[in-house]
Amino acid sequence: MVKSKLPSTGTSIFTVMSALSNECGAINLAQGFPDFPVSEKLVERVHYYMKAGKNQYAPMPGTPELRNQIAEVVIDTYDRPTDPAEEITVFAGGTEALFATFTSLIHPGDEVIVFDPAYDSYDPVIRLAGAQPVHIRLNPPSFHIPWDEVRAKINSRTSAIVINTPHNPTGSIISADDLMNLEQVAEQNDLYIISDEVYERILFPGNTHHSVLRSETLRKRAVAIFSFGKTFHATGWKIGYAVACPEITTELRKVHQFVTFTVNTPIQLAMADHMKNPENYLHLGQFFHRKQKLFSSALDGSIFEPLDCFGTYFQMVRLRETLDISDHEFAEKMTREDGVAAIPVSAFYEDGYNAGLLRFCFAKGEETLLKAAEILQKVTI
Ligand code: PMP
Ligand code: GLN
Repeated sequence: MVKSKLPSTGTSIFTVMSALSNECGAINLAQGFPDFPVSEKLVERVHYYMKAGKNQYAPMPGTPELRNQIAEVVIDTYDRPTDPAEEITVFAGGTEALFATFTSLIHPGDEVIVFDPAYDSYDPVIRLAGAQPVHIRLNPPSFHIPWDEVRAKINSRTSAIVINTPHNPTGSIISADDLMNLEQVAEQNDLYIISDEVYERILFPGNTHHSVLRSETLRKRAVAIFSFGKTFHATGWKIGYAVACPEITTELRKVHQFVTFTVNTPIQLAMADHMKNPENYLHLGQFFHRKQKLFSSALDGSIFEPLDCFGTYFQMVRLRETLDISDHEFAEKMTREDGVAAIPVSAFYEDGYNAGLLRFCFAKGEETLLKAAEILQKVTI
């Protein structure tokens, strides 16, 4: 008999909804991935390095070329001097970086604060580390962090707070004031801050990304996690990185070397070249904002009320009428009967809180978004 270490964990909602969408031939606005191509130039650089024979193991923490380039981008973007040798590690996507962070920093018996709705990998990995996730609910429509509740939940076992900004699934972002609160509680209680910033570049115009990397106070206690999958429309390439002080980085690498050991060489070298030109990533916010505006206005008059969002490629909507079935059942029915797949947001709440919310991914061509919206206009409850 297998004694599960994760008895209550099933298959991720993204996998479930994508499979159903494929089965039904629906428009898949559920799982988050773009339907437009990776830059031709970037693909050419990958080919170039493959043909040039760069096909053997890269150094465990990542190629020096890529880590040096990341250090340059970090200083340009966040004004944070970062040592590529000791503070940057390349991972097989944000997912592996999160796994290595939780596994190396969190001890059995610890408590870790997680804000719901939360990305699905945090809770199970915290549990695998033998720790207890402590979920705090963020409420629609603003999804602001309730700092009084955070302070009240912190005790001597609390070892970390997980934040995600820009936030999946809500599209909310943390403010300068949130960052100040984070600094205060982290300092007062000696906590790690695990900051999932994979959507750092998908921030709509007029907003600021308050990365933990901007904070001198958090320098010795924060891990910032990024993903090239989001920034370069290449979710299938599974490559990302983490920035943390040398003491933390040493621990992250101890786990990384026994999970994947290293990340594929030609893509690392190609990414290093591609990132040299900021034009390749600086306009992502405007690009996605146009899609967000197109999609949300095409929902006008439908049963789906778009909520404000400031970044990511997800649009949260609230149903204008009350459901008498669960949001899961509604999303499933909509996929089967109407032909558009979405994610039921209760999947992101540990307690299954159902506020009648759905998440749509708008990282799609305009034609697809308009076609989906035309169908959604006719959906009834
Ligand atoms: N964090 C969040 C909030 C995400 O949405 C995702 C994936 N979409 C990840 C982490 C994982 O990133 P990756 O695909 O690079 O593993
Ligand atoms: N991050 C993607 C999303 O939120 C999915 C990634 C996955 O399927 N694991 O949709």
